[in-house]
Amino acid sequence: MEYPGNLFVVAAPSGAGKSSLVKALLELDARLAVSVSHTSRAPRGQEQHGREYWFVSPDEFRAMAARGDFFEWAEVHGNLYGTSRAGIEDRLQHGEDVVLEIDYQGALQIKQLFPYAVLIFILPPSWDELRLRLNRRGDTEPEVIAMRMNNARIEVAQAQHFDFVVVNAVFDTAVFDLKTIVHAQRLKYAAQRRNRSAVFQALDLP
Ligand code: GDP
Ligand code: ADP
Ligand code: 5GP
Repeated sequence: MEYPGNLFVVAAPSGAGKSSLVKALLELDARLAVSVSHTSRAPRGQEQHGREYWFVSPDEFRAMAARGDFFEWAEVHGNLYGTSRAGIEDRLQHGEDVVLEIDYQGALQIKQLFPYAVLIFILPPSWDELRLRLNRRGDTEPEVIAMRMNNARIEVAQAQHFDFVVVNAVFDTAVFDLKTIVHAQRLKYAAQRRNRSAVFQALDLP
């Protein structure tokens, strides 16, 4: 499947800073939109249906998966998460850029489906720093931290399959790295031919 819009997929272990980085990136770039996933987990805190996630029951989720409504889905930390076709297909068809904030299993499924998707892995600067960030965010239960730290080792081992790696040590540097990746993608030949068609025509470029 080849759409004119760019598809960026950002994955990271929990606590590496993925949500904060993608939020900052979207604030800097009006041409990027984030895809809102479906999940079977319950809303937390201030989360709103349709803003952070589309919250559905496990049965509804499975029915959607069986109908083929998802580009990808995966079980993460015991809950189901998926990217719906409806959420991103229109945007990509209209040449808009879309960011998926999903786990590595979903990212690798997307790469199979859209070989041109740009896969970005966010790494924490160290295990100690990751633990500090998980603690600071308020997930204080030691078992929860231990589970996420264990999962993080499995997740980080997948970074080698991604196109780009961003180390989130200094936050602004990591945001700048993400912006640079997005910018470089927009300078690729096919993207420039779409966006600068007058120049390409004037220069008789195919
Ligand atoms: P958090 O880790 O505390 O931010 O908790 P969340 O419940 O928001 O997300 C849990 C995990 O599910 C994270 O690794 C997300 O990247 C992942 N996730 C969220 N949406 C999707 C999705 O649509 N597809 C897949 N495959 N994973 C997702
Ligand atoms: P994720 O979405 O990957 O689980 P978050 O974006 O929620 O991660 O970030 C985890 C915690 O780390 C948050 O409290 C966030 O403010 C903090 N954080 C993110 N990036 C940095 C950074 N570069 N330096 C210090 N703290 C950070
Ligand atoms: P681009 O055109 O690459 O998408 O974005 C360039 C933007 O990044 C400009 O607004 C520029 O000011 C900003 N920028 C350039 N260098 C740096 C840097 O080293 N750090 C940060 N935080 N921003 C930078």
